[in-house]
Amino acid sequence: MKKQTELVVVSFPVTGHLLVMIELAKRLINHDHRRRIDTVTILLWKIPFAPHADIFAQSLIASEPRIKLTSLPEIREPPPLELFHKASEAYILESVKKIAPLVRDALSAIVSSSSESVRVVGLLLDFFCVPLVDVGNELDLPSYVFLTCSSGFLSMMKYLPERHRNIPSEFDRSSGDEELPIQGYVSSVPTKVLPPGLFVRESYKAFVELAEKFHYAKGILVNSFSELQPHGFDYFGRLESYPKVYPVGPILSLKDRPNPNQDAAERERIMRWLDGQPESSVVFLCFGSFGIHGGPQLKEIAQALELVGCKFLWSIRTNPTEETSPYGHLPDGFTDRTAAQGIVSGWAPQVEVLAHKAIGGFVSHCGWNSILESLWFGVPIATWPMYAEQQLNAFTMAKELGLAVELRLDYVSSQGEMVAADEIARAVRSLMDGGDGRREKVKEMAEGARKAVMDGGSSFSAITSFIGDLTVVDS
Ligand code: UDP
Repeated sequence: MKKQTELVVVSFPVTGHLLVMIELAKRLINHDHRRRIDTVTILLWKIPFAPHADIFAQSLIASEPRIKLTSLPEIREPPPLELFHKASEAYILESVKKIAPLVRDALSAIVSSSSESVRVVGLLLDFFCVPLVDVGNELDLPSYVFLTCSSGFLSMMKYLPERHRNIPSEFDRSSGDEELPIQGYVSSVPTKVLPPGLFVRESYKAFVELAEKFHYAKGILVNSFSELQPHGFDYFGRLESYPKVYPVGPILSLKDRPNPNQDAAERERIMRWLDGQPESSVVFLCFGSFGIHGGPQLKEIAQALELVGCKFLWSIRTNPTEETSPYGHLPDGFTDRTAAQGIVSGWAPQVEVLAHKAIGGFVSHCGWNSILESLWFGVPIATWPMYAEQQLNAFTMAKELGLAVELRLDYVSSQGEMVAADEIARAVRSLMDGGDGRREKVKEMAEGARKAVMDGGSSFSAITSFIGDLTVVDS
């Protein structure tokens, strides 16, 4: 009798990563009936800045009985939170090292308790959890990495250890205009668009350590698609001394996405307002889960919106520890003057907003999920990166692929720099004009994305190939 196949997954337990990893797990178990994974167990761990990960993950799998959650015990001595504030990647890496013995115990228990009819076929790890390949090796299980970012980020991770052998130190902001020959990019990449963590010693070391571990994975699944990044995927396809790369995206969570931040009445108000707006007339401004602007910057954005005069929906992220409401930072009389022009909101139902025909452009912090969502719905972006690897994403979209308007490429939220109203206004005008055939190009890419995930499409085939490689002993 053919054994049932079980995949064990370790995600990084914050909203964006969980959402996409669980969506991928759903695709794997619902893939083509001849090639699919039968069950998935997610080993769930907790990190202090995302304390409700378990409730959130539970809600995401509620309709899928073939995905199970197993909560790992709490980490006994978590790394100090000061490390997180100084060098978040180093904090994350230390945390992952601390969960390694917990993962080993849980995984051993799953393997030894699996009945004669079930075979654990491997481990699928969020890229932050890649050090757990050692646990997979100990238990003789192949480990695969899931990269929730672009092929450009993977190119950078391939490049880092190579550079580190010649220059074993973090990057220097004063050489920001220096161009780096990162393979997988058509153009050379300016140092200033690298993730801000690479300029901080502890985070840099963590990045290099993670990047070196990538080599020990059996394969790397990337949440992007060949039609979007052909150059990058061709490059990885030619490499022999690197794990096999599977372009499986876009993996998007478009339905069933309960969100702890979403207020139902606020959602209703936003969608009702959009229903009353002409087609492609509204610019949507939204900066991800953590894209917080200070009061003076909010004023510049407000002024820009008044200067341009187009319809707008502006989602403002607030600092949960700050008492002042962001609405208090808006210029005097702004809300009254713009009453017929636009609305300001807290957390927005971004996927529904981008799907709405009234939306004509998106000023985005360039989180990779936001980019994929905007491409899926054919909405052009103006780039305003803030943290994580968003600068690299902005560069990829504006310079490498010519799919976005460059508002900023190298803005870093923690550096307190200010973008002036007229600069924002210029980018918003260009975005809403849709000039240079950009709008058409983005619409074509939307079609490409939909074809990629359809039966027989490039990403669908990459998932088939991954499942085939994972379950090869069975066939
Ligand atoms: N999001 C949302 N409403 C908001 C802000 C964000 O629904 O007001 C969603 C967005 O649709 C995306 C995710 O949160 O799915 C953000 O992921 P991304 O990778 O773009 O950025 P991050 O928040 O991880 O920086």
